[in-house]
Formats: sequence, C-alpha cells, structure tokens
Amino acid sequence: MQFSSLGLSEPLLRSLASQKFEQPFPIQQEAIPAILAGKDIFGVAQTGSGKTAAFVLPILELLQKAGPAKSRYIKVLVLVPTRELAAQVADVFKEFSNGLSRRINTLAVYGGVSINPQMMALASAEIVVATPGRLLDLVSSNAVHLSAVEMLVLDEADKILNLGFQEEIDKIFALLPPRRQNVLFSATIGDDVRNIKETLLRDPLLIEVGEENQQHELISQVAYLVAPERKGPLLRYLIKQHNMQQVLVFTSSIRTADNLVGKLSKNGIQASSLHSQKSQGARTEVLQKFKTGKLRVLIATDLASRGIDIEKLPYVINFELPRSPKDYVHRIGRTGRASAKGEAITIITAEDQHHFGVIQKKMGKKVSIVETDDLDLKGY
Ligand code: AMP
Repeated sequence: MQFSSLGLSEPLLRSLASQKFEQPFPIQQEAIPAILAGKDIFGVAQTGSGKTAAFVLPILELLQKAGPAKSRYIKVLVLVPTRELAAQVADVFKEFSNGLSRRINTLAVYGGVSINPQMMALASAEIVVATPGRLLDLVSSNAVHLSAVEMLVLDEADKILNLGFQEEIDKIFALLPPRRQNVLFSATIGDDVRNIKETLLRDPLLIEVGEENQQHELISQVAYLVAPERKGPLLRYLIKQHNMQQVLVFTSSIRTADNLVGKLSKNGIQASSLHSQKSQGARTEVLQKFKTGKLRVLIATDLASRGIDIEKLPYVINFELPRSPKDYVHRIGRTGRASAKGEAITIITAEDQHHFGVIQKKMGKKVSIVETDDLDLKGY
C-alpha cells in the first residue's frame, strides 16, 4: 500500500518522500483514512509502531483545508505525559508542516521552563502539544482557550494516568467543546484507560497493533549474571568489547545514574545522565546530544523509558532492573524501532534472578543468561 492511496494531498506526500517514509506502517494504513473521515480512534499501540505520524498526517491534512484559527483559540490539542514527548511530537508536526498550502503553527507547552515565551507563542498556534499541568496554567492566565478545539489526541494515555494526571485531564476535558473528534492512544488497557475511552470516544475505530512482544522480535535480548561489585566493570567491559558508540543505560535511581556517569568518564567513556532532578534545559540538551550521536552513553532513569524515539538506537543496557515488568518492556523498546535491529542487555545479580524470572514470564519470552564468573574484568 502507498501513502498516496490514503487520502493525503501532494504537500504531505512530498514531505513523506523527503523523510524517506516509503510505505505506511499498519497503524497508519488504518488510522489515516479513518481520522480524515472524522472518526474517533482508539489505538492500542506503542511508540515504535509509527503512531505519531498516524495522527499527525491526517490532522495536518484536515487543518490545511480549513481556514486559520482565531488567535489563542487552538484547534488541535495533543496531551502527552512527559516534556520530552511533547517536544518530540511537536517536532513531527513541524517537520510535516513544511510546504503545506497554508502556514500551520504547532507549539509544545510543558513545565520546567519559563512560561512567558509559551504565552507569546500561543497567539499564533493552531496545534498545541502539552503536558497537562502547564496547559492548565496557561488556560488560567487566558493565554490559550480550549473552547474551539476540534480534535483532541491523548497520546500514551496509560502513562498520563500512571503519572497521576487524572484530575488535570478531567479539568481539561471539562473545558473542551462537546462536539469534537477524539483520538486515544495507549500502550496498555487498564480500567482507567477503559474509563476514559467510555467517556471520551464516540463509536471509535479500534486499532490494535501487534502485541508488545511481537514488536520486540527485532530486539535480541541477553542477560549477564554478575556479582554486585563487578557490575560497574562489566558495564565498561560490555561498552568497550562491543565497541558501542550509542548506548542507553537504565538505572532505577538518580544516584546510581549520576555515579555511573562519574565512573564511566573516569574510564574515558563519554557519558551524561537524564533524570527528573536535572533542569529542563539540561534534559533537552543532553537528549539532543544523544539523539544526534554527539554523546556516547546516556544514563537514564525510567523517565526516558517511554515514548522517546531515538533513531536506530543499537543498544539498551539495564544496569538495574526496573520494578515493573512493563517498564522493562518499555526500556528495551527504545531499541529495535521502526524495523531496525537492536540489542538489549540486562545486568543482573543473584538477588535479581527471581524478579527477572517474573519479568520474562510477563513478557512471554525467555532471555538467555550468561554466567560471568570466568570473565576477566581486570582493567575495566
Ligand atoms: P512512533 O511510533 O510514532 O514513535 O514512530 C517510530 C519511528 O518510526 C519514528 O522514528 C518515525 O520517524 C518512524 N516512522 C513512522 N512511520 C514510518 C514510515 N511509514 N516509514 C518509515 N519510518 C516511519
């Protein structure tokens, strides 16, 4: 199937070609014509499935046919759980907006950075990609009005709810006009997502894109069993032995993340950390450096396990296991995206073995475990 048969017009088709999107992914084949036809969508899909373009493209198509929005009365609202995802989704809108028949402005709004530039930029934005808290701040200072929203997208709804944004999104829903189109994406369906689906969507088209495990076929997984005091040396050994030039390392705590940065740097391996105690400016900068290949090792807490798209990331290492099996799946899902192969390596100690067993069971996949007692880690 070709993008041209999905109802998109020339400017977007040209943009797709220039970004080397040759064929629509399954979720795009289903979602694009349905959104263009005005239907509500309930998509069960993870990042990596191509879900962002699945809503960005038809939204831009619909907007370019309509007239411009009244200042500060935005037409499209996309709610996302994290600041990084807000910036990333807004960038996809911007990339595809080049060359449209009229100018359509997208703005990412999120907390942790000064509110004034966002207030000013809202005067000309038609599409807003927002985290819930900052959006409400902007609404209460009249910088943006939600009464003309024609399309609502809830991206990573499960994560939005997990982060405790229920109250905020209820407030936001109450400000939206009753007649509008709704798109809801979630990686998992729990009771709270089901509730939102019932209240939000009218006769939605259900799109399910594979099981999480199926999407992970491109990711080869392996675990190394090691004594706790040898974890650091093993990490450095793996990075050097595999000659990893771009690797995302997950830890469970901010302290471990920062410690590892010090240890790696001392050993001549360039590394930085990404976690919630860093300023938003520092978070954006470090992620940008990593994405563009200017940073070799990014050490992150689970803040980075959801939604973040790093093109062709070859390696993910779990230096510490996450508590939740779901987080494990999301972490390793940072690699093996968009049909590129990836490798996920998990470092475990004897104490982790039981929990790692639970994770594998939940994931429905066995991971081979390599013993490292005989591995000489001297000098690492
Ligand atoms: P997403 O699930 O939206 O985070 O997208 C995952 C990755 O797939 C992103 O890097 C997109 O740029 C890429 N992508 C999405 N759709 C296509 C397509 N039809 N062809 C090639 N790459 C795509």
